Amino acid sequence: MSARVLDGTAIAAEIKEEVRREVETLAQSGIVPGLTVVLVGSDPASEIYVRSKVKTSAELGLASNLITLGIDVSQAELLNILQRLNDDDAVDGILVQLPLPRHIDTRAILEAVDPDKDVDGFHPVNVGRLTIGQESLVPCTPAGVMEVLRRQGIAVRGKDCVMVGRSDIVGKPMSTLLLNAGATVAVCHKETRDLPDYTRRAELLVVATGVPGLITPDMVREGAVLIDVGINRLDTRAQVERFFPDNPAKLATFQKRGSLLVGDFAPQSYAKASAYTPVPGGVGALTIAMLMHNTVKAARMRRRLRAAAVGGPA
Ligand code: NAD
Repeated sequence: MSARVLDGTAIAAEIKEEVRREVETLAQSGIVPGLTVVLVGSDPASEIYVRSKVKTSAELGLASNLITLGIDVSQAELLNILQRLNDDDAVDGILVQLPLPRHIDTRAILEAVDPDKDVDGFHPVNVGRLTIGQESLVPCTPAGVMEVLRRQGIAVRGKDCVMVGRSDIVGKPMSTLLLNAGATVAVCHKETRDLPDYTRRAELLVVATGVPGLITPDMVREGAVLIDVGINRLDTRAQVERFFPDNPAKLATFQKRGSLLVGDFAPQSYAKASAYTPVPGGVGALTIAMLMHNTVKAARMRRRLRAAAVGGPA
C-alpha cells in the first residue's frame, strides 16, 4: 500500500479560511486583530518571510504593520520600540523576525515582548505555560504539525514518538506538545549515540535537524507516520542527483529554478511509511497560517484577560 501524503498546503488553506471567518466575526464587535512585524536589517530570506507574513495578514483582514529598522539599530532603541508596541492596545501580536544582528541580545529582545502578544510563543512565560499544559501562544511550526495530525485523524495518545532535533523553536516545543497529548516521547539530537535505534521504534517520527536526507529507509519503522520539518536547499546538480537518483522530474525542476528544496528524510523512506509530509508542501506551508491563528488567539485571550481584571470572576 502506498503512503498517504499529508498535504500541508491544503491544511494551511483550511486554517487561513477559518481565521478569515473569525476575523469577520470579531469585526462585528468592532475588534480588528493587529499584527506588527519588526524586521532589523535587510537579510534577503528574512525580507521574503516578513513580506509574506504581512501580505497574508492583510489578505485575512488583520491590521498588519511592518516596522523596518536599519542593521545598526541599538538594543536600547529596539527595546523602546517593543515597549511602545506592548503599550499599544491596537497591537495584538508582535513578531521580531530572527535572526537579529550580532550586537543585539536576542534573548533580551524576545523577553521584552509582552507574553500575551508573543505570537511566536518564544517568551519564557509561554514556554512555561506550554510545559504545564496551560492555554498559551504556541510556536507556529510545532503547532502546525499538531494541526496536521489532528485534521488527518492521526491519533497521538499512547504512541511511541521520536523527535529528532531539540531546538527551542521546533524540537523542544514539539516534544512538549506530543507529551501533553499523551504520547511517549524520546528526544534525539546531535549527541544521541545510536539514532537509528530510536527512530526504528517510532510510530510517529518528527525530524527537524536541517540535515538533508539524514533519515534513511533503514531508520524507519514499517507503517510509521513521518513528519519532515527540515527545509534544506540543494544548490548543485551533483547534490540533486545524489538525493534523487534516477528522477528526471526533480532534475528538470532544479534546472529551471537553480535550486531545490528538500527535507531531512531521504525520499526512499516514504515507501515504508503509512503517511508523510512532503517537502515542499508539507509542514513549511503551515507556519504562516499558524501565525495568523495565533494573532487572532492573542486578540481573544487579551480581551478575556482584561475583562477578568475589570470586574469578571477572579
Ligand atoms: P537548529 O539548527 O536550531 O537545530 C537542529 C537540531 O538538530 C539540533 O537540536 C541538533 O542537535 C539536531 N541535529 C543536527 N544534526 C543532527 C544529526 N546528525 N543527528 C541528530 N540530530 C541532529 O534547527 P531548527 O531551527 O530546529 O530547524 C531545523 C530544520 O527545520 C531546518 O531545516 C529549518 O530550516 C527547518 N524549519 C522549518 C520551519 C518551517 O517549516 N516553517 C520552521 C523552523 C525550522
